[in-house]
Amino acid sequence: MDTDIRKEEHMWHDDNDDIMKLYNLLEEHEIYNPLPAVCPVCGSKSGHIYLHRYDEEHHGGSWVWCSNCHSYSHASFRVPEWWRNLSLFSILDLHGVPDNLDQKAQYIDDFVNKLIAIKDDKEFKNTYIPQPCEKCGTLMIRNLPEGHGGGYSISCPKCGWGVATSYFDPVVTDQTEYQITLLEGNNTSVEVIRAVNRVAHRNLKKSRELIESAPQVIFKGKALEIDEMKEILEEEQVRFKIEPDYPYD
Ligand SMILES: [Zn+2]
Ligand SMILES: [Zn+2]
Repeated sequence: MDTDIRKEEHMWHDDNDDIMKLYNLLEEHEIYNPLPAVCPVCGSKSGHIYLHRYDEEHHGGSWVWCSNCHSYSHASFRVPEWWRNLSLFSILDLHGVPDNLDQKAQYIDDFVNKLIAIKDDKEFKNTYIPQPCEKCGTLMIRNLPEGHGGGYSISCPKCGWGVATSYFDPVVTDQTEYQITLLEGNNTSVEVIRAVNRVAHRNLKKSRELIESAPQVIFKGKALEIDEMKEILEEEQVRFKIEPDYPYD
């Protein structure tokens, strides 16, 4: 066992700085869902990135690595505000060599792709488009729909010329099937039973049984549905978890 671990650690090497080009993905990427990325060292589509925030501030660690050629780089890192840690890892699971991370590479990629999409969405909503009006050259503005999706238009604030298009939040386009698990230790007050019942869609007696026999999966659905159920449960401080990791506020 010990020799296996040593062999595993031995295969990782941090002698090629080109792997650090993967950090650029956090700022700019040409495609939606950019991970796994093309490895700047070997060219295989096996490049990954993970950050982990260590405290309430921005202190954290960063890893970029390739599952194919095993190039990696690890550094301390100023973790951006939009980042969220995975529940999968505690600080104790993470060390310099990304061996533990690589075992969960696909799970990490799925989650980081969502974080990047959410970040892009926020930037998209908060910035003027750098696109001048075709008629008069004034920078145009976006009129976004209320809620999570629908039609939005780009129009010129000066002459009124514009185009309509459609737009959806990442939470709407997320195809992941999430599940909510009721955790142990919830009380069986009327409020909690009612909240669980609204999510589990059973009857009050069944919902009480679910609480008493937790952990129990009480709901499966897409991100937008999970959002609604999460709100119901949080309102009564019900203890639950969502799997896989749910990246939306
Ligand atoms: Zn590589
Ligand atoms: Zn104009």
